[in-house]
Amino acid sequence: MASSGKTHFCLYLGSINYLSMLHEILPHRFSNHFEGSTTFAPNSFVLHFNENQVLLKNNGDKFEIPRKTDIKELSSSWHKSYLFALDNTPCFLLHKKPETNNGQLVYKDIYFLRSLEHKEQAWVGATGYHLAGWYARNKYCGNCGSATREKADERALVCPACNTIVYPNIAPAVIVAITSGNKILLARNAGFRNNWYSLIAGYAEIGESLEETVAREVKEEVGIDVTNIKYYKSQPWPFSGSMMIGFFAQANENQPIITDNKEITEAGWFTRGNLPEHPPVLSIAGEMIENFEKYGSNP
Ligand SMILES: [Zn+2]
Repeated sequence: MASSGKTHFCLYLGSINYLSMLHEILPHRFSNHFEGSTTFAPNSFVLHFNENQVLLKNNGDKFEIPRKTDIKELSSSWHKSYLFALDNTPCFLLHKKPETNNGQLVYKDIYFLRSLEHKEQAWVGATGYHLAGWYARNKYCGNCGSATREKADERALVCPACNTIVYPNIAPAVIVAITSGNKILLARNAGFRNNWYSLIAGYAEIGESLEETVAREVKEEVGIDVTNIKYYKSQPWPFSGSMMIGFFAQANENQPIITDNKEITEAGWFTRGNLPEHPPVLSIAGEMIENFEKYGSNP
């Protein structure tokens, strides 16, 4: 994976066993249509982040995204931004830390979101985290240094001094399932805290197509050449501000595997029916590996 100082998206930690990818929340509906004038209604979800922690409400043995009514001091004038809606319920980002000493409100690591019983709330929390980071890093104009303001008609920040407009950014990254007949190439990432083997992944660099990113990352990380690079699906991965773009590719398994020993510490070919521990299907990596396990290289 190319470095560029971006958050390491391969740090998948434990999670409950969802049967689909994290962003697939049907029958719930996530709407990010921008409505700058949305009312801060009592049932609105409120998101606040403290570094890499998210504010949650401890409801007995369950954790949930808090509502406006859960935090008494929240008024309509609180410094906040409308983010998006879940099933028509608006979600707001709080820019100022609210009082949380009532015992019910606690900060948890953002990866804890994946253990929420309500998967749609996990998605709202994760996506809010991506946007919260963007707001926090763009308080000042990168061009002239003046304080930015929210644009009224779209999700953007604008500089009142030089009119620079800043839109939310997403880092495109490829993730590739390399197959050879009945085998798939899986690798252990140096950042994994468990025994998982997963797919090769990396960020697109400026000036290359996604197919070129696939070929380059595979060559850099495991030293082999791939052919027949085919798009599969994509998955927004807000924990690292990425868009994961999945590809299947083929390779001759007789090529020597040479790991970079930085990001990848171990890699090898594994046969269908005998795959090692790998990420669950809530990530696109898990879904692609499971699809190969079930259907072979042409899902
Ligand atoms: Zn400016």
